[in-house]
Amino acid sequence: MTTTMTSQSLDGNAIAAAIKTEVAADIKLLHEQGIRPCLTVVMVGNHPASEVYVRNKVKTSAELGMNSELVTPPATVTTGELLALVSGLNAREDVDGILIQLPLPAHVDAKRLLEAVSPDKDVDGFHPVNVGRLQSGQPSLAPCTPAGIIQMLKRSQIPISGQHAVVVGRSDIVGKPMAMLLLHENATITICHSKTRDLAAFCRSADILVAAIGKPGIIGPEMVRPGAVLVDVGMNRISSQEDFDRFFSGNAKREATFKEKGSVLMGDIDPHAFAFASYYTPVPGGVGPLTIAMLMANTVRAARLRRGLPV
Ligand code: NDP
Repeated sequence: MTTTMTSQSLDGNAIAAAIKTEVAADIKLLHEQGIRPCLTVVMVGNHPASEVYVRNKVKTSAELGMNSELVTPPATVTTGELLALVSGLNAREDVDGILIQLPLPAHVDAKRLLEAVSPDKDVDGFHPVNVGRLQSGQPSLAPCTPAGIIQMLKRSQIPISGQHAVVVGRSDIVGKPMAMLLLHENATITICHSKTRDLAAFCRSADILVAAIGKPGIIGPEMVRPGAVLVDVGMNRISSQEDFDRFFSGNAKREATFKEKGSVLMGDIDPHAFAFASYYTPVPGGVGPLTIAMLMANTVRAARLRRGLPV
């Protein structure tokens, strides 16, 4: 017997746009109560890659009717000066969200700085207090990328409860909170990492497979159970002809980009695997756009939680 399977791409841009529309409507309601949520982004020194992200965050905040502020201390700033800056932002009544853009210069004590941000204004959800709140199921600010993935699955009517979700990657910002959020949605969880024996076998047992590794195309078609939901968090740039041919040979659109830019962006999942999936997130245009939408949602959530308003 032969079975034909249709796999559907999940449109992260459309889902992010829907979330942003809802956030803008909520901000309007807050305006009526005299509240104007404000996101403050701290970007230390010059970091061209970060600048693009940061500009985007500030621009999106303004589009949704939120105040936003960019603070740019020089690369020579000391940890002490940054701690004083954060302490000032913590104390400011008009600031709802504080985001410290990573990476920080090597001489800055990043851990100390992130822990100095008030947990109630920690819109990245990285503070140990928010990690603990998330784990114990209390109202918290959850990290934006995994929170966006949950939104994407739910809004696409993809069942999570009772499914076996395999998360590859155990970072504090993606893998671990992803697993915790999926657990709260009643999935059965397996977390894999670089020391996992027989990664392929674990991946093949997944109903929902989340790849958050940072290695282009490491999840091959043979590692995917037919009908699985594939969520690709990885953002990798490939520039060698050999890699390009391996993953995108015959893909005219990608070939045009590769010729023009000399590189293409891809995820951790080999695109050949997508054909076996029920649903998959493309890279780019899948998980990526949700991160910023959830940052906006988190800032409004922080504004509400801090004032004891319902969320
Ligand atoms: P980290 O480097 O912090 O973590 C990578 C994880 O992958 C680690 O847990 C590591 O295991 C695991 N890993 C590495 N190699 C293997 C392997 N061969 N087999 C199995 N597991 C492996 O990365 P992040 O979590 O910060 O990011 C992951 C990817 O997601 C990156 O490409 C990043 O750019 C992207 N990203 C995308 C975002 C978006 O908005 N779309 C947001 C954030 C990240 P171990 O712990 O054992 O070292």
